[in-house]
Amino acid sequence: MLIDVDTILVLLIGTNLIAAAVMFAEWLRCRDIALAWFFSAFLALSMSAALLPLRFSSWGVPSLGAAIVLVLLGHGMLFSGVAAFCGRPNLAKYGVVGAAVWLVFWMFSPLADQQGWRLALSSSITAIYSYAGAHFLLRFASRSWLVQLVAGVFALRAAFSVARGVAAATGLDFNHPLLAGYGVTIVLMWGLWSTVLLGHLLLALTHESRESSLVRLAETDALTGADNRRAFVLKGEAIVAQSTSLEETALLMLDLDHFKQINDEHGHAFGDEILKEFAEIVRRHVGPTDSFARLGGEEFALLLPGGNAAVAATMAEAIRLDFESRTRGVTSLGRTATVSIGVATTRQAADLDELMKWADDALYLAKSKGRNRVEMITPAVRKAASSATKATSQPVSKGLAYPV
Ligand code: GH3
Ligand code: MG
Ligand code: MG
Repeated sequence: MLIDVDTILVLLIGTNLIAAAVMFAEWLRCRDIALAWFFSAFLALSMSAALLPLRFSSWGVPSLGAAIVLVLLGHGMLFSGVAAFCGRPNLAKYGVVGAAVWLVFWMFSPLADQQGWRLALSSSITAIYSYAGAHFLLRFASRSWLVQLVAGVFALRAAFSVARGVAAATGLDFNHPLLAGYGVTIVLMWGLWSTVLLGHLLLALTHESRESSLVRLAETDALTGADNRRAFVLKGEAIVAQSTSLEETALLMLDLDHFKQINDEHGHAFGDEILKEFAEIVRRHVGPTDSFARLGGEEFALLLPGGNAAVAATMAEAIRLDFESRTRGVTSLGRTATVSIGVATTRQAADLDELMKWADDALYLAKSKGRNRVEMITPAVRKAASSATKATSQPVSKGLAYPV
């Protein structure tokens, strides 16, 4: 089967142009900087393919040189897009370095006359960009299967470039008998297929990323950055359902003391700063599997999967003390801001609703006992409380003994 090279070039121009147009339309919609790099990359690759038919004309030398500059810009800008996608937009500028290096080589180096050297250098540059793209995705992006797939395509492009560079350096040019006349065809077909593949995958990738940012946004409290109540209930129900008698889960209900007074005395904006500071302090204490949420106003919840009563009480006390000592230094406050904390574990509750009720009861008790303290519902107390209307609890702070 013989495929006409110019036919492939026409397909290549069209495919890259379509990919660029789709990315551009998507960029107009969401102004994602990664998409801007991607559509520029596909545009450069399309223009490069458009220059190649001139290679046998009187413009042959400059058009070939310009086509290679555009190919390298295309690869570089794909890397820039990946860097921006991975949250490293400051590295995106390196996407143009490869094309600049090539331009200097092509204009000033005597070796530029030899096809082998030209191919070896351009292939090395494309290999580096493709490898860097794969590396950035695996290192800095979240590990979804789509991210891994795109990284795989970049790795494949890198491998192809290396093979091409090695072939060029060892004198295996496009017209070598080993390639049976298909050298250029193979390169162009690969360019065509990987453009189609990358175009689809990069679009899906930016979609996926925006979708997960929207989900994160819908689950996050804007002021403190903690989960909101909706996210807390979703995660909490699953965590509590997985808890066993050996792997219990603890819940801390945290409510800032006399917060209305702080607002009244110092203004709402100051109150907001205290809320943010409190969330920051809690985050310093929690582990990666713990779930911290702002349930509303000045009320927070902290779920500790695998945390028993002792672990929960220790953490609650540490948070209470940390908050108290940090706000002591806030001179404009005039006094310390404090928090009351109620603790319960799944040893006492079968589901999240019940767990929240018990922790709430412990919190209520902490408030009624004077605030700025930690109280916990224990199994013994719960048993007694189940026959009474109001649950009682055991204090774990303020110098009183903590019953494990
Ligand atoms: P207690 O010690 O009994 O918990 O008293 P409290 O004043 O903290 O509790 P109360 O429920 O009476 O008041 C809560 C206050 O929290 C009232 C409201 O103005 C304030 N608040 C709720 N949401 C926000 C917020 O987003 N920012 C600020 N600055 N204040 C808030
Ligand atoms: Mg309060
Ligand atoms: Mg409250």
